[in-house]
Amino acid sequence: MTTNVFILYTGGTIGMGPRDPEDPISPLEPKSIGDLFRFLPDFRLYGEKKGIRTRNAGQKPKPDAFGAGGLPFLDLDNGNTIRFGSASFEKPVDSSDVGPADWRRMAEMIASVYDAYDGFVILHGTDTMAYTASALSFMFQNLGKPVVITGSQLPVSGVRTDAVLNLMNAVFIAGYQASDLPLIPEVVIVFADRIVRGCRASKVSTSDWAGIDSPNAPLLGTIGERIKIHDQEIRPVPLRPFAVNPRLDENVFIIDLFPGFRSDRIEGLFRDPDIRGYILRTYGTGNIPNDRALLGLIRNAVEAGKIVMNLSQCGTGTVEMGLYAASSALIDIGMLSGLDMTREAAVTKMMWILGSGAARPEQELQIDHRGEQSGSLYPIAFGGVPEEKAAPACRRSRIPDIRLNRARITGSSLRISDLGVKGAAVGERTILHVYLNRPEADHRTPPDDEKRIATLEFDWNGRPETRIKVVTRKTQAGIGDGEVSLTLAGGLPGHRFYFSGLHLEIVADA
Ligand code: ASP
Repeated sequence: MTTNVFILYTGGTIGMGPRDPEDPISPLEPKSIGDLFRFLPDFRLYGEKKGIRTRNAGQKPKPDAFGAGGLPFLDLDNGNTIRFGSASFEKPVDSSDVGPADWRRMAEMIASVYDAYDGFVILHGTDTMAYTASALSFMFQNLGKPVVITGSQLPVSGVRTDAVLNLMNAVFIAGYQASDLPLIPEVVIVFADRIVRGCRASKVSTSDWAGIDSPNAPLLGTIGERIKIHDQEIRPVPLRPFAVNPRLDENVFIIDLFPGFRSDRIEGLFRDPDIRGYILRTYGTGNIPNDRALLGLIRNAVEAGKIVMNLSQCGTGTVEMGLYAASSALIDIGMLSGLDMTREAAVTKMMWILGSGAARPEQELQIDHRGEQSGSLYPIAFGGVPEEKAAPACRRSRIPDIRLNRARITGSSLRISDLGVKGAAVGERTILHVYLNRPEADHRTPPDDEKRIATLEFDWNGRPETRIKVVTRKTQAGIGDGEVSLTLAGGLPGHRFYFSGLHLEIVADA
């Protein structure tokens, strides 16, 4: 059988050669696709005997053949054949020059030949490969075929190089039918011994063979003597037709915190009316210093309709705002969680969501679209009760999104911001019960009521404080569709409660 694979060459080390052909140690520069493929038949990994055939040799090269020498067919050991088409950036680039305009070109080139090929390989520099892979993951909607990005640490022109093996592995995964492998209908990076989901990838080493990795998510497969695909990690083939969304909004900015960081230095950046989204790379689970000016900048930006996302500087783990006092205020002022996304996924997702004109970008940004994060976050806000109206309170809200799958809730936390007590003396013990979907609950509701999701017991110290409680199991059991209510009832007579905000944060698998 024959499979059709399309190769798009954009540049990068894989196709570089010395600027001065007479001087092998002169600086490397991107060569043409013809130069690149000139090195492959010589390598004879699948040499002529095994059947690299140049069926158009002697004929005028077709516009999509790899230069005059061509490599349009590759016969595999199992008797199957991969047939290639190709295209190249007119001027191949070092990937440090790649940006959103290039992502659009790549996406449109693939879209223009999508129906004619079974899989696609993009040859790309390693420096920004993970950004390109993330961007394309979002720009391709309902992708049903493999788009495999690869490159190399050493040029294909060298005697000792990873270029040939990376390219061959990429071709095998893109040409999955011929090579008897499972279909991966996703944008992936194939590099050294690993297959990485594109929107989970990062460049992790300037020099190791395994320069690209998936630091915060399982690999989609491994490559050794055999290519092993981890079927349980692969996303399903979409039913709807493939499409490209080329609109990206580049008006986003990433800021890294560090001890000694001065928020007055970024005031101008936060006031810039053109910037629509900020990613603040914070410490640990999403913590920032106790700096009122920084909080003020974030609050003003959110009030001006901008997006501010919290992303951890840690390479693994996830943002959990509210776990420490150093981050609980951030949810109240409207900062979004980047959960466990890579920096590359976060910035390209923000460009994509802002560019797509989504009606509620802040909601879309916290939802998993392509496997870029391990769950979707659905915050439900119930509003506050001012001190003068302190009372047993029932607050109602709605499930924010029909995509929230109740059967797949993996985590839930309740947050009561600035909770204060009336009717209790300072130092007196107080008890507060919280009920989910039991609007009529009050102090007489029996203690074992199944709708009670939390009980807070504390000494009232005279100052309102934010309280957080993990309520995963009770939320899984008690949440319904559509309307949701939370009822706060005192456990002791005469105690009434007020608070500035009440939130249920639900994390669910897609
Ligand atoms: N500077 C090169 C690039 O990203 C590095 C590489 O390809 O490995 O284009």
